[in-house]
Amino acid sequence: MHKKLFIPGPTEVREEILRAQANPMIGHRSVDFSALYGGVIEKLRKLFGTNRKAFVFTSSATGVMEGAIRNTVNRNLISFINGAFSKRWHEIALRNGKEADAVQVEWGLAIKPEMVEDALKKKHYEAVLVTHNETSTGVMNPLGEIAEILKDHPDTLLLVDAVSSLGGAPIEIDRWEIDVIFASVQKCFALPPGITVTFVSDRALEKAKKVENRGYYFDFLTMLKYYEERKQTPATPAISLLYALDVQLDKMAEEGMENRFRRHREMAEMAREWGRKHFELFAEPGYESLTVTTIKNTRGISVAELNAELAKRGFVISNGYGKLKEKTFRIGHMGDLTREDLSELLKNINEILELER
Ligand SMILES: *Cc1c(COP(=O)(O)O)cnc(C)c1O
Repeated sequence: MHKKLFIPGPTEVREEILRAQANPMIGHRSVDFSALYGGVIEKLRKLFGTNRKAFVFTSSATGVMEGAIRNTVNRNLISFINGAFSKRWHEIALRNGKEADAVQVEWGLAIKPEMVEDALKKKHYEAVLVTHNETSTGVMNPLGEIAEILKDHPDTLLLVDAVSSLGGAPIEIDRWEIDVIFASVQKCFALPPGITVTFVSDRALEKAKKVENRGYYFDFLTMLKYYEERKQTPATPAISLLYALDVQLDKMAEEGMENRFRRHREMAEMAREWGRKHFELFAEPGYESLTVTTIKNTRGISVAELNAELAKRGFVISNGYGKLKEKTFRIGHMGDLTREDLSELLKNINEILELER
């Protein structure tokens, strides 16, 4: 039986999008490919209202987490860590031999602009790493406010992991002067996994020219060269996924981004209301995510058993991440899910746990 995904990635993919992948194959050095990829890039820039360069990497987002650092940092950076994904990004920086400092806050809390301001006062960094939406905890960091702080530090680049928020929550890429921002498509874009949408500022591209050992596969300048010359990519891309992305970008434009954000907000409010009524929310108040709600398991239920029962009914939610397993659980409400879908899920959880509506 098909189980509808209410997990924070991969998200539920609509039939029409799955089918778009089944188009006949084309060569990646053909004019047909250039038309497809060129179209996708222009649609992305338009949909996200940005003049920045756009790339689609054939890789999950973790590849671009590494690439963003390799392209823009010679020596040092600072990570802001409040969960598993921001911690991973920090680790990637260290494994790439960068001098990486870190500001860590307890899981469940948000990164505040003051924390960034204090850190940048003490020391100069080439880049600041911020995870917009910490999918492991359900905390959405105040990216716009953090970006304001960076405006006083023109030699420090702002690198943003927006993997589980881009396309589901409003992000003003140009106005906030974000230098590198990326999202794999199995979250808010509601596509099968395998490619990562990336926007890069001119300032970051200029910096890349002065960075050694950028590698090859994720080198922004190589990607740009192939794009500008022929609207192609250096290596063979996941063409089937690009077909699906092309269709999905049209669907997103049809829905309208404002409507898409509103739908995500409404689902988040519904999940929070349910969470507060029957349990407690895990995220610091005021910083709850718009795309995933993390609920404290205050009733001491077995999350694994709940999921087993939900599976029989055709649904799946997520247990808590890592050390938060069974202490919390997560309901993903991103991508193409609707309020009706979420309401159906909550009704079923209520029945299984014998909660009152
Ligand atoms: C899912 C996720 C990642 C990892 O992305 P992959 O596509 O699995 O590599 C990184 N950061 C955040 C915030 C995520 O939600």
